[in-house]
Amino acid sequence: MNPSTRLLPQLDRDNRFFWTSGADGRLRFLQCQSCAGFIHPPSPLCPQCKSTSVEPVVVPGTGVIDTYTVNHQKWHPAMEVPFVIARVAIDGAPGVILTTNIVGCVTDAVDIGDRVKVVFEQAGDVYLPLFEKLD
Ligand SMILES: [Zn+2]
Repeated sequence: MNPSTRLLPQLDRDNRFFWTSGADGRLRFLQCQSCAGFIHPPSPLCPQCKSTSVEPVVVPGTGVIDTYTVNHQKWHPAMEVPFVIARVAIDGAPGVILTTNIVGCVTDAVDIGDRVKVVFEQAGDVYLPLFEKLD
């Protein structure tokens, strides 16, 4: 997809680590240091145990497509269609499912259960975590 057509997130104190994590090519999610649960979207408070001891941790950057859909609608004149919107279950962060795009392959090549790895698309300060298929 053409990056200029994306709506970029507003960075704040809680989510900045997530959206800038790709600067060093590594994917991070918040982990509660009290109960070890993962937290996404980022929050200063663990929803499970209410601890405020939460820290970004690096995950392997791989995952599995939980489900997906193919968008054919050109929502913006510069938008390149079709493209895949998917939910990816993140390896190393139990319970975290990221809504993202699958890139680097034709849409027909995507299926539920496919293994994928993160690739970052930079847009200013933001590094969007997209995924491509692992062979
Ligand atoms: Zn917790």
